[in-house]
Amino acid sequence: MQKGRNWVDYKEIKSTITMEMVLKHYGVFEALQKVEGKNALGCCPIHKGSDPHQFSVCLTRNIWRCFGSCNTGGNVLDFIRMIEGDIPIRNAALLLKRLFLETGETPPVQEGAQTETKNDRQEPVATEEKMAPPKEEVNPPLPFTLKSLHMDHPFFAENGISQETATYFGMGFCKKGLLKNRIVIPIHDHQGRLVAYCGRSINDEQAELEGKYKMPKGFVRSALVFNLHRLKTDEAPLLVVEDFISALKAHQSGFQNVVALMGSNIGKGQEEAILAHSGSAGRLILLFGASEYSQKCADECLDLFSGRLFVKKIDSSPYAETPCQLTAEQFRSLI
Ligand SMILES: [Zn+2]
Repeated sequence: MQKGRNWVDYKEIKSTITMEMVLKHYGVFEALQKVEGKNALGCCPIHKGSDPHQFSVCLTRNIWRCFGSCNTGGNVLDFIRMIEGDIPIRNAALLLKRLFLETGETPPVQEGAQTETKNDRQEPVATEEKMAPPKEEVNPPLPFTLKSLHMDHPFFAENGISQETATYFGMGFCKKGLLKNRIVIPIHDHQGRLVAYCGRSINDEQAELEGKYKMPKGFVRSALVFNLHRLKTDEAPLLVVEDFISALKAHQSGFQNVVALMGSNIGKGQEEAILAHSGSAGRLILLFGASEYSQKCADECLDLFSGRLFVKKIDSSPYAETPCQLTAEQFRSLI
């Protein structure tokens, strides 16, 4: 049978791609403490925990486990599935295949498949190039919008977000459904179509127990840059931050030309979108947090964009652990 680009060999993936390769790809391997060369231990990169004993990896058997709020584990496929925001296992396999098994002209890694398979075996699904899902199907538009979001939640005041900013970004507190008891943030694709809602935890306790962010199943974070659709191409420089709240705070502080990666790593689709938006004469300001994860991501972005754009890297450490805690004056003094 002809092997199309969406043909996935689960066995090959699991036997050739190690946890070490995957952890290095996400820039989190170095930070883990190695035990006798066989195991690694550290903070969980999936739920971004702060307990250095929660996340453990067996480097020889290529399995992992988070004892914190993820409370789950598995193989390389499960790791990708979780760190990319609970995507279908087939999409995780395609992503791994494109990251590590294909060389040369690889298609964008975000072109996930449309079907989820429960069968963890070799599974030829699409055998021909033309059967690959059209680009629109990566993060397709949502067929609904959430109504009756509440603006009166103390989260906004506690995080220094004005009602005006919250309204501009279409946010609100959700009282029912999957995102119940969370602050909801609409995510649009680069054409401006609503494709997902993110549920942000309202406090640290909820973040620790249920995760800081809840993303819809199948949403491919690494394909999209948050807020890009609202920007005009002639505006410069482009401010790049990690998380939603940092983007909101920057916007509110007068830096409206801001986008967020929605995490501490950058995907191929995000890289391309930033390049396309900024153009060859573009200027980029990377404003990241002070943590090791954040700095790894900042360095990765610096490497990616240096030489192609004018890039300036700043971190929030003179004032705060992350940019989301900065005041308007502090934003201005840093940028
Ligand atoms: Zn975890």
